[in-house]
Amino acid sequence: MSAPEVTRFAPSPSGYLHLGHAYSALFAARQAGQGGRFLLRIEDIDGGRARPEFEAAIFEDLAWLGLAWETPVRRQSDWMAAYAEALADLEARDLVYPCFCTRKEIAAEISRASAAPHGPAGDLYPGTCRGLSPAERQDRKARGTLYALRLDMERALAEAVADHGAPLTWHDRARGSQACDPRPQGDVVLARKDIATSYHLSVVVDDAAQGVTLVTRGADLFEASHVHRLLQQLLGLPVPDYHHHRLIADDKGERLAKRSDALAIRALRAAGRSPAEVIAMTGIAEEAVS
Ligand code: GLU
Repeated sequence: MSAPEVTRFAPSPSGYLHLGHAYSALFAARQAGQGGRFLLRIEDIDGGRARPEFEAAIFEDLAWLGLAWETPVRRQSDWMAAYAEALADLEARDLVYPCFCTRKEIAAEISRASAAPHGPAGDLYPGTCRGLSPAERQDRKARGTLYALRLDMERALAEAVADHGAPLTWHDRARGSQACDPRPQGDVVLARKDIATSYHLSVVVDDAAQGVTLVTRGADLFEASHVHRLLQQLLGLPVPDYHHHRLIADDKGERLAKRSDALAIRALRAAGRSPAEVIAMTGIAEEAVS
């Protein structure tokens, strides 16, 4: 049996949970271990996609699976002031900059550049707005041009490493010790034009605020953890342990998405499956606890 941990399951209420979410939630609850705490967090910063009926369905489906979590549940949209505070700190230290580019402009800039830099998620932001002068920034803001806030990756990493006094590392329970290198992801967005925060910033602030000791999530988010480790250093937050788990595929071997209706927990329920059968479908029972 593993040592007690504080773990969390952090779905976005933008669709119904599917078998992959069931596995992820069961995994997090199990990793909390005897005497540990399992938390639930609703990641609803994207007000355009989050819907109350999906949030209600999350609670219902997880309870149906037999999971119990601590209340109150943290809902990200309630904590915008906490994200703003973290951003203001980074802004005051010149580690973020306003980016006025539209998607179209970024694409055009990339196609103009002879050797466009590539990151794990495709083309990297070419840094167009990084070099704007304070006067230009002021001028564009005054004209009401919408802007995102991007992390100045090179500068931020240099400051974090100097502060830490050594290269940053983080630990994944499946893949071992990791040298933290978020540079391939470029100047990531920390606050979107339409939302005053981002996935990266909110998750880091929340995991610290909730005292999470072990972050469990799908292997598709492995690269994001490099960015999160950097943000933890910059914001003086504790560094949790990580365990990125396997992803569940459908019968064609494709990764499940929110729209994988056939494997939505509620579709399985409607088809007469029992909680025990759905849990068995995730394959979690056959896996050793690490
Ligand atoms: N909200 C993210 C998702 O729906 C997961 C965030 C995390 O576990 O860090 O995939």
